[in-house]
Amino acid sequence: MTVQTPIYLDYAATCPVDPRVVDAMLPFFTQMYGNAASRTHSFGWTAEQAVDNARAELARTLSADPKEITWTSGATESNNLAIKGVVEYVQSGAEGTRPHVITAVTEHKAILDTCKYLERHGADVTYLPVGPDGLLTAEQVAAAITPATVLVSIMFANNETGVVQPIAEIGKVCRERSVLFHTDATQAFGKVPIDVDAMFIDLLSMSAHKIYGPKGVGALYVRRRKPRVRLAPQIHGGGHERGNRSGTLNVPSIVGFGEAVRLARESMAEESARIQGLRDHLHDRIMAENEHVFVNGAYDHLLPGHLNISFAYIEGESLLMALKDIALSSGSACTSASLEPSYVLKAMGLDDELAHSSLRMTIGRFTTREEVDHVADALKRHVTRLREMSPLWEMVQDGIDLNSIQWAAH
Ligand SMILES: *Cc1c(COP(=O)(O)O)cnc(C)c1O
Repeated sequence: MTVQTPIYLDYAATCPVDPRVVDAMLPFFTQMYGNAASRTHSFGWTAEQAVDNARAELARTLSADPKEITWTSGATESNNLAIKGVVEYVQSGAEGTRPHVITAVTEHKAILDTCKYLERHGADVTYLPVGPDGLLTAEQVAAAITPATVLVSIMFANNETGVVQPIAEIGKVCRERSVLFHTDATQAFGKVPIDVDAMFIDLLSMSAHKIYGPKGVGALYVRRRKPRVRLAPQIHGGGHERGNRSGTLNVPSIVGFGEAVRLARESMAEESARIQGLRDHLHDRIMAENEHVFVNGAYDHLLPGHLNISFAYIEGESLLMALKDIALSSGSACTSASLEPSYVLKAMGLDDELAHSSLRMTIGRFTTREEVDHVADALKRHVTRLREMSPLWEMVQDGIDLNSIQWAAH
């Protein structure tokens, strides 16, 4: 059977908007276009009602209260609001204190860059290492807590590898020590069950476009009781969203986000099983058909749709180039002119070569078995071809230990 190309296997980067989500959004552009903050007429009331419905969908999916949901422009903003919001609130209350934040080296740049910023603005940050499997432990977090610690921020699941952290255990440690716990759940929300009470989560970041909603809208869960979380707002003006985040609400996108969340929650069990079945099939074929390939991240702790694999003795970029009709990501990040190996994979102990030779394949709602088989076929063909062209591969085949070679200086 022929499949239509290009094939999209990069659902962790973004998703197509589900047509049902588009249908839900459309009337809010031209018919129900009121400002949700307009209290004096039905246009405003209709918009506010729609926003409230969406808020309730998110809250229900987290076992939270709708009052605990703050709309943002996406998870990058949610992460900024959570981390700067907590730290700056503490700083505003006690002149001269240096609040301490704990996070991990494998976090998204929206966390790491925010922490770097705070280090230049009167805060201290501890970056916890991860194991070769990409996992952290609650014991590591407990050991890093000091009397100055105000916030722990650990992502629910990693965007590059799909590794899911022991969130409830980490949350429990934080609650016992009266430290706030934030989690960037952008990859996990809508895909695995999340209960903010059972997991002791105080702040949680979400984004619509990773779950078949529109780009440019997200939310932050902010616990209101036991404990009540206080944030310094990052955007001022008008006091929308209980003062947490001012600005006229993007009603069509919020409606779309709510519908995307409803669809994700209602189909979660069935959809996860289907997507994981495809992912396992792709994994099994790649492992059976290629030598010297390694899964990055603890396979039994992955999100259902993630697969990150290193193909030793191949440049990831050459493989990407050969797989032009398949949309996926490599373990190399283009920073200006140079190709940097993924900091996430390097933190898991991979050398530059293996990090560069990795591919992230992420499967989603619209992926078919035919597409997955096409990808496995193409991988087998190109991996074989590229290795046949590689002098390193020839040496490996001849049984030469590459680590024993004294390379000439270059
Ligand atoms: C995509 C992503 C973000 C950024 O979300 P935006 O809504 O695009 O700003 C943050 N964290 C993680 C883990 C992500 O996967």
